[in-house]
Amino acid sequence: MKIFKFSMLVILALSIVQCTNDANNDVQPENSLDQEKIPSEVLAKLESLGFDMEKTSIKSSKGGFIVDGDIFFTDKSVKEENLQKQAFFGIVDCNRAGNIRIQNALGNNAAGRGFRRGLNLWNRVNNTTLQLVEVNSNPDILVRLSTPGEIGGWGLGEFPTNGVEGGLIILNLNEPSIDGDPVTAREWGNILAHEIGHNIGFVHSEQDNLGTRVPGTPLGDPNSIMVSGSNPGIVFNANQVSNNDARAVRRMYSNRNNRLCGR
Ligand SMILES: [Zn+2]
Repeated sequence: MKIFKFSMLVILALSIVQCTNDANNDVQPENSLDQEKIPSEVLAKLESLGFDMEKTSIKSSKGGFIVDGDIFFTDKSVKEENLQKQAFFGIVDCNRAGNIRIQNALGNNAAGRGFRRGLNLWNRVNNTTLQLVEVNSNPDILVRLSTPGEIGGWGLGEFPTNGVEGGLIILNLNEPSIDGDPVTAREWGNILAHEIGHNIGFVHSEQDNLGTRVPGTPLGDPNSIMVSGSNPGIVFNANQVSNNDARAVRRMYSNRNNRLCGR
């Protein structure tokens, strides 16, 4: 079994970025959580959102904070007065969700070649109004590569704030796959779908106390594309988003009266 080099953040984050199969890394001492230099008002804000502060890693990053391994909160969003739990953390306005413009700035590499698959995994879900549209300029979501050392793990997605999707996704080409080989285009597509999930409001499916559950979906879905560190192979090997992912996104973004995006 190959053990990769990870930053402590990555090992601690219960997230897709925790990719080792080594069971010893599944247990981390609480006192090593990466929270020391985080302003207390930011910690309080995240706690008010429902994060279990004894299990959540938080790292200061340019322009904001990386929470739970691969979720980016901007400085602005953590200062937002009315940032609060809704369906999941936040949800994109119905109208916006019908035409989310997303740009591939990854370049000519496996991640770039996997880009369209990441969009399609969500666009393929029927009976939802959610639609990700590839554009070459003025995107709502920019997908780019990380700069050296910018992030650990495979990727990062930003939560929506005030009805607007998270604007940034970062992928890290330097991270090997779970089998130690380079991540394939197909796997990058799956990782991108996971990160897009954050940008449209999803938290990790193991975080069953976090955010608001979508009615009709289970408390924790082991097959979700939003599974994080407990079993990253689920994300890497997914053929599609899970049935419950599809159920959730239909309930969040649709034309039906009980849609969550319109509340
Ligand atoms: Zn994630």
